Amino acid sequence: MGRSGEVTGYRNDGVQTAVALVNAGDATPGELAELLVSYKFKVDRPLTGEEARTLRAWARDLRPVFAETALERVVDVLNALMLSVPMHPHLSDHGLGPHLHYGPPGAPLVDRVRANTAVGLAFVVCERGADRLGVCLARGCDRVYADVSRGPRRQYCSKTCLNRATVAAHRSRKAAPPT
Ligand SMILES: [Zn+2]
Ligand SMILES: [Zn+2]
Repeated sequence: MGRSGEVTGYRNDGVQTAVALVNAGDATPGELAELLVSYKFKVDRPLTGEEARTLRAWARDLRPVFAETALERVVDVLNALMLSVPMHPHLSDHGLGPHLHYGPPGAPLVDRVRANTAVGLAFVVCERGADRLGVCLARGCDRVYADVSRGPRRQYCSKTCLNRATVAAHRSRKAAPPT
């Protein structure tokens, strides 16, 4: 979590919030509220059904940012998303030290999440490259990831998928007839 905060300078980790939302699929309002709290959004009441629907739709809109491989497409999608959300950057503190909020002061939770996630992903594209946002390569896994490390680019959503894929590749090499 701390790592992508480095990219965006944002206390709520918009990048990993975006990843978690896309991977949450059809999460319930309760699960979505927990998810947002775990990424330090202030959520002091249960989400409404309407908010949950909006967030699930937003997650579907975010997926192409990870799935598209052509930079121009990623840029188009992100620009369209950023234009669709009220943006009004300002500094805020609320006990965390000064940091940027991207939505208007007092913006509703859902809009804060949308502004924060879209701008977070835009920072990754600018500072690390669009290929740092991807869909897991493991067979049968459609989870997305954001790799903001400085190391070699990652291609799997998790160590579990990476290990599974490594074992599978090893097996299929062994199974292939010698040439
Ligand atoms: Zn804040
Ligand atoms: Zn995976």
